[in-house]
Amino acid sequence: MTLKCNCGSEEYITEANAYDIYQYDGDNFNFQRTERIDSEFKLYCRDCGVEITLPPESDNKNSTNSAVKI
Ligand SMILES: [Zn+2]
Repeated sequence: MTLKCNCGSEEYITEANAYDIYQYDGDNFNFQRTERIDSEFKLYCRDCGVEITLPPESDNKNSTNSAVKI
């Protein structure tokens, strides 16, 4: 089993996990804050967008930011 994408890409990306909130005051959009989305850790191939299936041992919550062997 290989964790690399079949297209041979060297780069992998996570899902977008943050967005900015603006409030409209009648004239302008004013930046309020940035909120993060606490989503499951997933990796996607940067070149073709395929989701990379991670091995089960990296599936526990404490390993969210640990390095992934590719
Ligand atoms: Zn790919």
